[in-house]
Amino acid sequence: MSVESAGDGRVNLLGFERAGLEAFVAGLGSKPFRARQLMQWIYGRGESRFTAMTDLAKDFRAQLAQHAEVRAPEIVTTQRSADGTRKWLLRADATQAIEMVYIPEESRGTLCISSQVGCALDCSFCSTAQQGFNRNLTTAEIVGQVWLAARELERDFVPPPGASPGQRAITNVVLMGMGEPLANFRNVVPALRVFTDDFGFDISRRRVTLSTSGLVPQIYRLAEEVNVALAVSLHAPTDALRSELVPINRRHPIAELLEACWHYLDEQNGRSVTFEYVMLDGVNDQPAQARELVRLLKGRPAKLNLIPFNPFPGTRYRRSPLPAILRFRDELLAGGVLATIRRTRGDDIDAACGQLAGRVSDRTTVRLGNRLIGVAVQP
Ligand code: SAH
Repeated sequence: MSVESAGDGRVNLLGFERAGLEAFVAGLGSKPFRARQLMQWIYGRGESRFTAMTDLAKDFRAQLAQHAEVRAPEIVTTQRSADGTRKWLLRADATQAIEMVYIPEESRGTLCISSQVGCALDCSFCSTAQQGFNRNLTTAEIVGQVWLAARELERDFVPPPGASPGQRAITNVVLMGMGEPLANFRNVVPALRVFTDDFGFDISRRRVTLSTSGLVPQIYRLAEEVNVALAVSLHAPTDALRSELVPINRRHPIAELLEACWHYLDEQNGRSVTFEYVMLDGVNDQPAQARELVRLLKGRPAKLNLIPFNPFPGTRYRRSPLPAILRFRDELLAGGVLATIRRTRGDDIDAACGQLAGRVSDRTTVRLGNRLIGVAVQP
């Protein structure tokens, strides 16, 4: 876990999962239950001012004010789409920014957050890849996105007509923004725990989704660490094509990736893995390719989510026409594989999948052996 400090020695409490906060509180000479009280203030009520946390002892509040802070990323800009989608540009440092998107629907509100500044995986159809990679976000920056969005949204949230009683603005969190979450395993895992913790955001495990391009060893590790829903960017039925679209496939081919997915479900008692499949005109959208997918996934606990490609400047791909997408879906359904089409939201503000570019000014990627390690270089 990375614990972020303001530079004045104060520790950002958003960087702690419950166990870490208990240890921190113990270090100040307080009992572990104080950590749970603190979490109720921070996550239950969105409070950042220790002076307002009135059921904590005065001395303890004073200690907290001296040694700790609750600090979310700063908002650079906010945009609203005609369909209600909102996109925030958030400061990562002096020159760089990440993006976060909120997608309201009838019965849920989904927050899509980032895990890295840029991305090192170089998928050919993704605009984040074009930005290059700068650095991993800290746990506090990952948790801070949800904390900030909850505060911003709850202010004027009116539950939609179909909402369940007490429904909050954010019901689902997906790690589908900028970055490859499993390449930032160390900081992402504690954040996932804060999302699902009763004293954290208290979101059901099935409503927190980590999406990965297919870092196989980390999928095995994840299975031992947390219990959240898994989405995997598949995008092609064969290794030849997938290696072209998602280069990590050269290291971890489809058969290995699928084994890791089934293992994950076994360990987690999960129901199914969602496979994302971006629909690229003339590249991966042919009926024969749907039938190949059926051969791969039939009888498996898998759902396919077809994502119409979202174009961005400079891309060589085009979105599959709607009839081709429908035909592809029908071919999958006829073959006995569950498939849905993801509705494109927020594309008028470039908030749709794969359009999150943020601002990545330093693109330093150092390859060390087999691992990709990003190094932040200050301008
Ligand atoms: N790195 C993770 C999560 C981020 S991307 C991953 O690869 O899964 C979230 C989803 O959007 C992924 O399935 C990704 O492949 C898809 N995506 C990327 N670029 C896209 C684009 N231009 N149009 C549609 N979907 C895209």
